[in-house]
Amino acid sequence: MVRSNFCSDDYFGEPAELDATEMTNLSLQLSLRREDKKTSIGNWIQCQEVLDTGAICGKWRRAPLFVVQSSDWDCSCSVLWDPIHADCAVPQELGTAEVLQQLKYINKLKLRLDSYKQKR
Ligand SMILES: [Zn+2]
Repeated sequence: MVRSNFCSDDYFGEPAELDATEMTNLSLQLSLRREDKKTSIGNWIQCQEVLDTGAICGKWRRAPLFVVQSSDWDCSCSVLWDPIHADCAVPQELGTAEVLQQLKYINKLKLRLDSYKQKR
């Protein structure tokens, strides 16, 4: 579920002033608001860790927006911002369908931030 106030065009106030640092602070602040955890803005990264069984972990972990998917990213990388889920043994926080839905929304948001930047 996406809260409608995040879709509002004036949510970011002065979008032209946003830079990467502010985006990071914003996403960290939002993801630290526990009661809003399920709707906070943040990236999701898929764990690439190969388990003892030979299968890839493949769990999705919450991450700040500045963190990007890489081929050696694994659950333990999220220890800085989400220590509870920083282990391959811990179940995924949300269902994969919901994670993918949020990712779709986040990508749209990023595109919009990029287009704001290009207007400067
Ligand atoms: Zn993992």
